[in-house]
Amino acid sequence: MELNQIQSNEKIKTLFLSAKKSKRIPHAQLIFGEEDTPILPLAWAYAKILLCKNNDDDACGTCASCLQVKKMIHPDLHWVFPILSNNKNKNISSFYMKEFRDALIKNPFLKENEWYNIIGSENKQGFIGVSEALDLTKKISLKPYYNGFKIVIFWLADKMNESTSNKLLKFLEEPNRDTIFLITTHKKENLLPTINSRLQSIKVEHNKKLKEAISTTNDENLNYFKIWARSCYKLDFLEISDWVEKISGLGRENQKSFLKYSLKMIRSCILLQQNSSHIYTASNEEQEFIKKFSPFINNNSVKIISYIEAAFSDIIRNGNSKILLTDLSLKFSKQLRIKKIS
Ligand SMILES: [Zn+2]
Repeated sequence: MELNQIQSNEKIKTLFLSAKKSKRIPHAQLIFGEEDTPILPLAWAYAKILLCKNNDDDACGTCASCLQVKKMIHPDLHWVFPILSNNKNKNISSFYMKEFRDALIKNPFLKENEWYNIIGSENKQGFIGVSEALDLTKKISLKPYYNGFKIVIFWLADKMNESTSNKLLKFLEEPNRDTIFLITTHKKENLLPTINSRLQSIKVEHNKKLKEAISTTNDENLNYFKIWARSCYKLDFLEISDWVEKISGLGRENQKSFLKYSLKMIRSCILLQQNSSHIYTASNEEQEFIKKFSPFINNNSVKIISYIEAAFSDIIRNGNSKILLTDLSLKFSKQLRIKKIS
């Protein structure tokens, strides 16, 4: 990942390049931004600039170090990311390095739910456990392989539990002169305040091109939403149960993404009825569907929204997705059919 492959965020590029040039590199930095902002590609590109042997400012892209960073095999670049398994033999990210490397090289804009799908048990929430901090102690006690320094990139640091966070805090409080921490998160507010206060923060803004690339997942959600709305309206039990089966198999993160999407669609229907000129950013296909569907969302909208929100909370609390999606579908169906009967 080269800096010039990441559009916008000019200020950040300048910041990275000048840090290297001035040789004043903060030992712990927080690279944060809303969901879908390129926090990880930026941390990766930054590591490349810092580790490049040739250039004083940008990364040359051709030296041994740049090539190793590109292939994610640089001995002084360590990665920490959430995993799913509680299995004692596979409880740190190092065990998943091959999968992570393959996934990230294929798609530097890898999303959290895509990562969980790759490492299997898709219905679980990822975490960065305390064993990770113990492993990190070993890694950072090693001398840098090349004569410079070591870098540790944390992806989604908000997935640390309290004890992991406290261990990280210790690293930050007692800085090892040759280790640089690049901590990334989409949920800065979920980090311990004591950690936040020790990091130099860099805010990453949305990137237009990236947003367009990501909208493919919206296409999938639109298809699921269409099927769902139609089968609930017809109260077709067979179709509803097929749909529940399909969505349950998608994994928890995708289910959350679908439910959020459904809320956006319902709210867009309400806005359309109120003749609001503002519909949530919608593609042509979405707008077409919203127009046809909005007459079925009427006085019942408050109820529908509260049912979806409740299902969302239950999914977060690891509820059984088949049961709660079936229940949600029947409630949704009842509300849609009120209009039909009256
Ligand atoms: Zn280089």
